[in-house]
Amino acid sequence: MKKNTSDKMSKLVSLCKRRGYVFQSSEIYGGLNSCWDYGPLGSELKRNIKDFWWKSMVYERDDIEGIDSSILMHPRIWEASGHVEHFTDPLVDCKKCKMRFRADEVNSEKCPSCGGEFTRPRSFNLMFKTFMGPVEDSANVIYMRPETAQGIYVNFLNVLNSSRKKIPFGIAQIGKAFRNEITPGNFIFRTREFEQMEMQYFVEPGGSMQIMEQWKEIRYQWYVRLGIKPEKLRFHEHDEKELAHYAKKAFDIQYEFPFGWSELEGIHHRADYDLKRHTEFSGKDLTYYDDEKKIRYTPNIIETSAGCDRTLLTCLIDAFHEEEERIVLKLSPRIAPIKAAILPLVNRDGMDEFAGKIYDRLKSRFKVFYDDGGSIGRRYRRMDEAGTPFCFTVDSQTLKDNTVTLRERDSMQQTRIPESDIEVELRKRIENI
Ligand SMILES: [Zn+2]
Repeated sequence: MKKNTSDKMSKLVSLCKRRGYVFQSSEIYGGLNSCWDYGPLGSELKRNIKDFWWKSMVYERDDIEGIDSSILMHPRIWEASGHVEHFTDPLVDCKKCKMRFRADEVNSEKCPSCGGEFTRPRSFNLMFKTFMGPVEDSANVIYMRPETAQGIYVNFLNVLNSSRKKIPFGIAQIGKAFRNEITPGNFIFRTREFEQMEMQYFVEPGGSMQIMEQWKEIRYQWYVRLGIKPEKLRFHEHDEKELAHYAKKAFDIQYEFPFGWSELEGIHHRADYDLKRHTEFSGKDLTYYDDEKKIRYTPNIIETSAGCDRTLLTCLIDAFHEEEERIVLKLSPRIAPIKAAILPLVNRDGMDEFAGKIYDRLKSRFKVFYDDGGSIGRRYRRMDEAGTPFCFTVDSQTLKDNTVTLRERDSMQQTRIPESDIEVELRKRIENI
């Protein structure tokens, strides 16, 4: 079992490199631990996932607005949020080889690497620190944000007033966050630099639990719409030990990764903690007045917090299939990096020219790929590995009746359609799923 697990992950990691999904960061310098770069297909996949999230959270809903706040923020924000005080892991150092471990992850008294003695555990804050301006002293310490959520809370009034929203309403944001994890790992599952897709929904305290239940369902369905197998998804409720100090109730959507069930997204009831703390630390009143009910209150917050890199990894793992004669990534057409390949059967008799015209016509509207290198079978296999859902092949029949072969990745079935229907057909197959 263990072997299959690492097999699947290592096969996926090597496919990612081979096809240009994910590369080790700084590879020619020996790599930088836990940092990864998205290649031509990976960056496209990531954009598609973010677009789909943004469209379903911001465009499809009348009650959510988007923002894009800065990574560097006023250091007092992290005092108010509790990160300066609480965002720590217990850390021990090996006195001999100087390796560092999370105290809660080592289960012996001695260093597992060299057998040396450990130092006493101490708190290690996971925020990346830097300095703003030219003077590197404690007055100029600033943090790389460890989550995008705080940028939303501190803009609560700005968005409320500029968009004239009424509670309940939400604010969505996609952006990078940084956590100096002691033990990152599992490829792009846990990294020190990562991208979040977070939405904070502001609600009246009464009835907030019911709204949380609705968000659980909405967010679960989002992964199903993304093409993830439902039997690989489940909810996990945080027990008292897991619950963050501010949270009233919290659920994770988990996915069954090759290395076990792990968190994909958190859906948390944060009560009135965030806005109360920012009111206290900033001195600005962040309460809300409901002018229909004539009541004033501090809004409660339901948070949906997803990791973009983690979602991308999930899509790849879920889509990865080894069949007898091929490896295929069965990514949903909605997020597949390349939507279709345009292939001349052979490079002569005007087939290449005909295919080239189709490609030129489509390329401003879809990410398409033109390939005339190698046998048609090999070209199909390359597209299978890249996760390209459709291939349109121009052959001698095309030159007679203007039809092309439409080859589907998953079923490998081939049908003929008029060349003039390609765009409509492609749009239908990408969007109507
Ligand atoms: Zn050691």
